[in-house]
Amino acid sequence: MLSEACPQCSSPLLRVGQDIYCANCDRRIVYAKADEEKTADGQLVKSILPDLRDTLIGKLASLKQVIETETDTETLTRLANLMVLLLQALEKLERMGE
Ligand SMILES: [Zn+2]
Repeated sequence: MLSEACPQCSSPLLRVGQDIYCANCDRRIVYAKADEEKTADGQLVKSILPDLRDTLIGKLASLKQVIETETDTETLTRLANLMVLLLQALEKLERMGE
């Protein structure tokens, strides 16, 4: 018996092989499998977060050097936009890692 309850009748669910059944409704519950897949994806994303963070910080560091020497206003505008995008990505990443 599983800890999850049937979304229809709230009866405890049964696992039969790879499938999850509600004995009360006599039907297979498919939502639980989708949740498992979602969790697997989430773990995969979480496992690459530290690497991704390092990459973004590295890009920001080299971008800072380019901005320091760049004098063309148009180029500076593009570089500043890129910096904002990188910072937003970094901020999003920090939130995901929590
Ligand atoms: Zn049920």
